[in-house]
Amino acid sequence: MAFDIDMIKGVYASMGERVEKARELVGKPLTLSEKILYSHLWDGDPEKAYVRGKDYVDFAPDRIACQDATAQMALLQFMQAGKDKVAVPTTVHCDHLIQAKDGAAADLKHANETSSEVFDFLGSVSNKYGIGFWKPGAGIIHQVVLENYAFPGGMMIGTDSHTVNAGGLGMVAIGVGGADAVDVMAGMAWELKFPKLIGVKLTGKLSGWTAPKDVILKVAEILTVKGGTGAIVEYFGPGATAMSCTGKGTICNMGAEIGATTSTFGYDESMERYLRATDRSDVADEANKVKEHLTADPEVYADPEQYFDQVIEINLSELKPLLNGPFTPDLATEVGTMKEKAEANDWPLAVEWGLIGSCTNSSYEDLSRASSIAQQALDKKLKTKAEFGINPGSEQVRYTTERDGILEIFEKLDAKIFTNACGPCIGQWARYKDPKNAPKNSIVHSFNRNFAKRADGNPNTHAFVASPEMTAAIAIAGRLDFNPLTDKLINEDGEEVMLDEPTGWELPPKGFEVKENGYEEPQKDGSGVVVKVSPESERLQLLEPFTPITVDNLQGMKLLIKAFGKCTTDHISMAGPWLRFRGHLDNIANNTLIGAVNAFNQKTNFVKNQLTGEYGGVPDTQREYKKNGIMTIVVGDHNYGEGSSREHAAMQPRHLGVAVVLVKSFARIHETNLKKQGMLALTFANESDYDLIQEDDTFNIVDAAEFAPDKPLTIEVVHADGSKDTIIANHSYNDAQIKWFNEGSALNLIKKQNA
Ligand code: SF4
Repeated sequence: MAFDIDMIKGVYASMGERVEKARELVGKPLTLSEKILYSHLWDGDPEKAYVRGKDYVDFAPDRIACQDATAQMALLQFMQAGKDKVAVPTTVHCDHLIQAKDGAAADLKHANETSSEVFDFLGSVSNKYGIGFWKPGAGIIHQVVLENYAFPGGMMIGTDSHTVNAGGLGMVAIGVGGADAVDVMAGMAWELKFPKLIGVKLTGKLSGWTAPKDVILKVAEILTVKGGTGAIVEYFGPGATAMSCTGKGTICNMGAEIGATTSTFGYDESMERYLRATDRSDVADEANKVKEHLTADPEVYADPEQYFDQVIEINLSELKPLLNGPFTPDLATEVGTMKEKAEANDWPLAVEWGLIGSCTNSSYEDLSRASSIAQQALDKKLKTKAEFGINPGSEQVRYTTERDGILEIFEKLDAKIFTNACGPCIGQWARYKDPKNAPKNSIVHSFNRNFAKRADGNPNTHAFVASPEMTAAIAIAGRLDFNPLTDKLINEDGEEVMLDEPTGWELPPKGFEVKENGYEEPQKDGSGVVVKVSPESERLQLLEPFTPITVDNLQGMKLLIKAFGKCTTDHISMAGPWLRFRGHLDNIANNTLIGAVNAFNQKTNFVKNQLTGEYGGVPDTQREYKKNGIMTIVVGDHNYGEGSSREHAAMQPRHLGVAVVLVKSFARIHETNLKKQGMLALTFANESDYDLIQEDDTFNIVDAAEFAPDKPLTIEVVHADGSKDTIIANHSYNDAQIKWFNEGSALNLIKKQNA
């Protein structure tokens, strides 16, 4: 399903009435975020006012977008749902699996060779189930979504944390785990805790060297990497309306770096211009008809403290360009004041690379403004000190910037023009042969994340985040402490020269153009499409439905591991080199819990096999139990399963035969994921019972046959010496979730209902 004007008309048709009802229920004027949330309730018209930060609410998103790394498991699961088509317009984007090395043509060819089975699989599933497919090289998911699908007042989810980018076009767009996306694809509701609201008032106007990127770098400094957690950040004020739509996208994009649920802006003329420039005048016309619902009620922005949980004000006229990093995106330093800080912290001042691109900053405006700096290097005979790498955000941006001579400017500076894909932003940068032992160095980029090893796998790379134009200036100067507003550079003739302020175009003066945008429309009737998965594949594996866990299975369970301290989804299912197996459950299951610390010996991936008395890795030990028909239990501490929402962290233990996860407390999304996979997610009624668990314990859930909502379960723990303890375990399953358990998984239930 491609772009769908009728769907948008439908959203707008009911919006007015729903907003009106919500306003009555809430009893006061509404923010934009509330208008979008209340007009996307699963049950249709609002019937009650929700408590922010507390109530869980079912929503009906308008769209779904998936990227190639996360789409594999999401689509493998969707195939289990027994549906002919996705229930909601969905697109898949091949952007993460393309390495940046020699330049676009060679790199794309290499990716198509090495990941062809994954791309072919994603293409054929998309074709079969009515999903729009964006081929490798078509662009980065969030730029493509902004150019083609985002619309003011809409709600979307995506299996990528930077889905939030679409807030630049006035959406509530939220990154989710694959399991959530599968639910919505299969026609189920999507649940979210009603977010808190942070208002950011932008006064003044950006000018000179200051860019939209600096706004979010400043917000990150103010709120830190956790400050937005559980909240929607809503931007408003004259500074917001004066900014381009893609600039707004940059700001919303990096809302992920402050942990925000999402960020958004009210509909304005910049969005209208962008919609018309990207061939969506029909959307702009429809949006204009319901304008008043696509921004907050006027009272809200006039007196924001009354309506938001927190308000921040930034005067753009006073905002200075920033350089955030290294290793965290909230560590802000004003450009020009880096010298002392870098020396004090031993950060290399010399800059080796300037990278421009990623879904954050790869628009036409970004490239045109950065190229105005690059052009000056040519005109003023400056030799660039650092190397340049460019990733255009989409084929449309690439084609148009090539046509307009923008890419040529960078090429004259020997820049590498990489594929329209994530590349160095996700570690897909073949910068070193041996990144682990690579030297200490600094780079500057216009991306969003700068954690250690993120770009090139080298833990000694210090990555700093800046606007594209500042990235260009610093790359030319080759120094972190360069301030283009005050500092001179020496050119090839030995003369002192300064860089002038960047200039550029918000939108291409001659319009966007593209020959082959890389999109494949799915067949209307995909029933004849065969999904290609080789049984020999090590990267893809069709899923088998999970067998329900029976009352008998819950007797005589062995302890697999008692995890000590923090156990995040990364400890349960590591990323890094394992990313490659995201579409192959059995292979990726070989990393199950290898990062969890065993409470009995404080070691990772070293647990006792009760059948042999020997110690071994967690996955191997678990496979032994499975071979012997014995199910197991994992015991954990507080906030078990925090971190990313990846469903692998629940599917892998399930696949290997873990029946129960018993912890002091759960991270909520992981708890839900365990429930969806048909497992028992339990919490100690008495937290100190965690201490009763011994290495050789056997577990019986004595009242498993009476599993019911609000009724704790009783676990008999049999120790090696034959002594016993009884533990009471709480759970939060409702009736519907108990059905998931009884059927073996939520997907099994959906399939049964469809049948
Ligand atoms: Fe994620 Fe970077 Fe790709 Fe954006 S460009 S989707 S942040 S990997």
